[in-house]
Amino acid sequence: MSFIEQWLHEAVPALVGGEWRTGKETFAVDNPATGETIARVAELGAEDTRDAVAAAYEAGPTWRATPVKQRSALLRRWFELITEHADDLARLMTLEQGKPLAEAKGEVTYGASFIEFFAEEAKRMAGETLPSHGADKRLLVLREPVGVVAAITPWNFPLAMITRKCAPALAAGCTVVIKPAEATPLTALAAAYLALEAGLPAGTINVVTASKPAEVGEVLTTDSRVRKVSFTGSTPVGKRLLAQCASTVKKTAMELGGNAPFIVFDDADVDAAVDGAIASKFRNAGQTCVCTNRFLVQDGIYDAFVSKLTERVKALKVGDGLADGSVIGPLINQAAVDKVQRHVDDAMSQGARLMCGGETHAAGERFFTPTVLADVTTQMAVADEETFGPVAPVFRFKQDEEAIQMANDTPFGLAAYFYATDYRRIWRTMEALEYGMVGVNEGLISTELAPFGGVKESGLGREGSHHGLDEFTELKYVCVGGL
Ligand code: NAD
Repeated sequence: MSFIEQWLHEAVPALVGGEWRTGKETFAVDNPATGETIARVAELGAEDTRDAVAAAYEAGPTWRATPVKQRSALLRRWFELITEHADDLARLMTLEQGKPLAEAKGEVTYGASFIEFFAEEAKRMAGETLPSHGADKRLLVLREPVGVVAAITPWNFPLAMITRKCAPALAAGCTVVIKPAEATPLTALAAAYLALEAGLPAGTINVVTASKPAEVGEVLTTDSRVRKVSFTGSTPVGKRLLAQCASTVKKTAMELGGNAPFIVFDDADVDAAVDGAIASKFRNAGQTCVCTNRFLVQDGIYDAFVSKLTERVKALKVGDGLADGSVIGPLINQAAVDKVQRHVDDAMSQGARLMCGGETHAAGERFFTPTVLADVTTQMAVADEETFGPVAPVFRFKQDEEAIQMANDTPFGLAAYFYATDYRRIWRTMEALEYGMVGVNEGLISTELAPFGGVKESGLGREGSHHGLDEFTELKYVCVGGL
């Protein structure tokens, strides 16, 4: 796509009120596979952010008054443009984020699916009439857009985390200010460019790029014109933003970190469990929030599972995401590599058995060799901290209750997985897991059709499905009297 080609290596502007804004300074966006700078992007600050909020605020009344079929058609056109430019968007995503091209294409499809879904769902944003408490009164419940939405998103899914918020927000009649992750602003800007091409009016969608997120975040969380902050990212940053939002009592949605358990019971189909394990653990080099962090495997099946998993993990091809056949790309930055190495070293120093991997890969300093650790115990850092890398630590358990207790023994509650065949065990386990999402004999669960989100310190609110639309609406109760 020509506009993407032009951007690379040049100063890419941000989007404020329908205008492309360059800013006084720029910051570099690097390719994590090579360390090369692929583009420079506008460095915006507090003043620019206030302008973006003002633009969204001013665009709000017209957008919400636009007939729903028209809003829906514009979103549908945005979906089509993203789909038409899928190859270019995927390549851009691989360049700035590192994920293998096939996964990047998958993310474009997944990201676009939210726009397609919410373009339709907008038409079903219904209110209610309720039985009245007086003969001369009628009770109505109107469902209205919440207003200006700030969407603050992470680098691991540079497109889907944006569309999962913006599509329902725009569908509901809200306007948005996006603050993409500093590592991956290009995909966000390309998506916004296509939104304008699709005909979304100036100011309905704004993108504020910044390498110092706190300054922009301060405005987005304290400006009273912003009525909802929808954040996806780490739990510490989410807690900080929640606290900041308290000053103006904003609605919030927090999609935060996880510590996903993946339980394999004795009666599981071990080959299916290994397939699920590979999909759940090694997608995006282990950098997904719903990624398995801990494998909990029952005694009777433990050795078979570890041996089959190790065999499959050894075969995973590591390399630049643009190279043919790569399935494990680089980690996002050096700090990520250091954290993964620390988790492996800590486990091994406390007696874990290294089955494969365990160190950086010859492909480059940002690449970590897919790793399996056996005989892992709950004293090790991998038990409590989100590793966010291609490391599969395998814990052992004997009784079902022990697995449930281990699985729930975390402040997080995003996704959990388990493999079993006995139907009583399946029901008991499904109900006992304190998680927002559970995969039963399934390692990949994300879809625009279902509510995505966590409990406990993994967050507040849901994205996707009709619940995802409700998040961007307010109820207004109207009592019509004197009839
Ligand atoms: P992060 O919290 O460091 O950053 C997320 C976003 O917040 C980025 O845009 C960043 O610039 C911004 N940010 C950071 N400090 C800020 C501040 N003070 N004010 C305003 N914005 C600020 O997270 P990350 O490293 O980009 O992403 C990885 C984390 O995200 C992991 O913990 C992962 O589990 C989580 N995640 C969760 C989900 C989910 O749906 N639950 C999805 C993807 C990622």
